[in-house]
Amino acid sequence: MTKTAIETGYQRVITIMKSCPNCQKPPTFIAVLSALNPARIRCTYCKQTIIIKTLPAVLATATALILSLIAIATIDHFGYGMSIMAIALISLGLLLEAAYFLAIRSGRIASNLH
Ligand SMILES: [Zn+2]
Repeated sequence: MTKTAIETGYQRVITIMKSCPNCQKPPTFIAVLSALNPARIRCTYCKQTIIIKTLPAVLATATALILSLIAIATIDHFGYGMSIMAIALISLGLLLEAAYFLAIRSGRIASNLH
């Protein structure tokens, strides 16, 4: 009985993970990280272009920009140095990319992944 519950849960995790329409492999974080255009991501395995719906991509980029500006203003306000600023912005950027990546992979952000 317990095994069935675990199996069902596992099956659910697999089905909510979106994969490349061409090679059926899930998108990688590196693919999202290295994409110049957040609405066009290239599959790491087969180089197929994964198209993200424009509106969520634009909203995600705008949110990232606003959060970065808030971070810059806050760090500047407290008079921290440039190295703290750089570390904070890189950390924030990675965090946002990770959130974006997870949203795409789970299908929360619509794309041509299936
Ligand atoms: Zn692929």
